[in-house]
Amino acid sequence: MTSEDRAERLRLLQEEASACTSCRLHEGRTTVVFGDGSHDADLMFIGEGPGQHEDEQGLPFVGRSGQLLSTLLERVGLSRPEVYIANVVKCRPPGNRDPRPDEIDACKGYLIEQLRIIDPAVVVTLGNFSTKLLLKTETGITRMRGQIYPWWGRHVVPTFHPAAALRNGPRVVEEMVSDLQLAVSVIEQRPEPVPAEPPEPQQTAMFS
Ligand code: SF4
Repeated sequence: MTSEDRAERLRLLQEEASACTSCRLHEGRTTVVFGDGSHDADLMFIGEGPGQHEDEQGLPFVGRSGQLLSTLLERVGLSRPEVYIANVVKCRPPGNRDPRPDEIDACKGYLIEQLRIIDPAVVVTLGNFSTKLLLKTETGITRMRGQIYPWWGRHVVPTFHPAAALRNGPRVVEEMVSDLQLAVSVIEQRPEPVPAEPPEPQQTAMFS
């Protein structure tokens, strides 16, 4: 797929998502927060869902968590425009509650299509929700982080959600830097791409 094809397919997908009413989260949203960054990115981040600032601005990770994520990217030699950032759900859960299993189930098609189009070499999952969705695990992020998981010809490197680092302080920040360095090292080694479609992620009991 050419860069232009990617851009056009993402544009069409975003257009579709912007009118989505497939789950209850559409009722309270200001905007659908589809994703942001380079459609040619080698590195894609997946968070949980939009917060208040993201909902208002229509962009992912623009609040304090986003500022921290930008700082962490700089520490490993990257900038936001070089990566792509999306969330498991595209509309803000009310009161910033966790997304519910049926909401994730309703929204996951957009994320899978984003992964197919961008086709990043490495996916960094930020926190429990995206990690469990992609890796089909019940294990929490504290035990999952810091390792590379093969994933349909790509690689997944789980790390904490930046909000956890804001809550828990410098130790978690440094662990996130270490995880991002690991993700960058995978890109630099350029593993042989294996043609494969991203799978339909597991979507039921692990979130209940
Ligand atoms: Fe549609 Fe996803 Fe928004 Fe639910 S969260 S309304 S599935 S775009």
